[in-house]
Amino acid sequence: MTAPPCEDVAVRAEGLTKRYGKTYALDDCDLVLPSGHVVALVGPNGAGKTTLLRLISGLLRPTSGRVSVLGVTAPAGTVDIADTAAALARVGYVAQEHPLYRRFTVSELLRFGRELNPGWDADLGRERLADLDIPLDRRAAELSGGQQAQVALVLALAKRPRLLVLDEPLAQLDPLARREFLSTLMAAVAEDGITVLFSSHVVSELERVCDWLVLIAGGRIHLSSDVDTLLADHRLLVGPRNGHDETLGSAEGVLTVALGARHVNVVARTGTGPVSPGWEAHPLGLEDLVHAYLQHARTAPPAPAKEVRLP
Ligand code: ATP
Repeated sequence: MTAPPCEDVAVRAEGLTKRYGKTYALDDCDLVLPSGHVVALVGPNGAGKTTLLRLISGLLRPTSGRVSVLGVTAPAGTVDIADTAAALARVGYVAQEHPLYRRFTVSELLRFGRELNPGWDADLGRERLADLDIPLDRRAAELSGGQQAQVALVLALAKRPRLLVLDEPLAQLDPLARREFLSTLMAAVAEDGITVLFSSHVVSELERVCDWLVLIAGGRIHLSSDVDTLLADHRLLVGPRNGHDETLGSAEGVLTVALGARHVNVVARTGTGPVSPGWEAHPLGLEDLVHAYLQHARTAPPAPAKEVRLP
């Protein structure tokens, strides 16, 4: 008999690896995502985001390692297949291009969803689409890109998932559609306490929405942390140039160094303690922090940054 699923952890990956021929899309990744968070997955093109999301959603099998979702190990694992099917029924997945059956009307898509999903919430689907003014008799192919994204999200939500996985849901949406999409998402999180994991290149929107950040580059996880802790731990340090500034980049905890004519700007994990005389510390927004980590990830291996004292 299998142990009851532990839902405190939404996703747990251990040594998760996915190889396509000679390409390692994911390489020996460990990751723990606690339940009840809105998790943003960021990383450059080709980092392995889609691969990770598809592994978590049970659409891909790992080459090695394992991933557990809502306490149950997905297909490559060793658990009973019935448990796996039950776990995956609690996962909603919306692919990058939010594919819909283009010839189906919205109403037919809802009926299709109801027939395929035992826990289908028909009222939720209809109410959210009415709120969004999306006509039920319109074919998917005749909806705008933003409306298609909204319909795909509503279909995923009506499944009543405990974990909702969205691959670049904001791509191709105009700023207004982006806001509406995120509002729909946030309403579902507030009402149902689900866990949301979404990848995005639209870093400017993240601070408003996510409370956990995962950064991936080159198939490796570089960062996984709650956003409040990250923002409290990292700062922009501004200090005088002193002729040895080139060495700052290799100091532990330093993410980026920008040299100006008279000053040097350093983004680093500093903790909250005092900084050295002559240096000023400024808080960072999430967007700046993500950019610093993305820049750092281009050259550095995925070692956890430690606190730093400068100079
Ligand atoms: P993007 O931001 O551009 O969507 P991503 O972070 O989602 O990128 P993945 O799509 O997961 O990245 O791809 C990770 C790596 O795996 C890339 O090097 C990609 O070329 C490779 N890859 C992905 N899918 C396949 C496939 N089916 N066959 C071969 N290689 C693949």
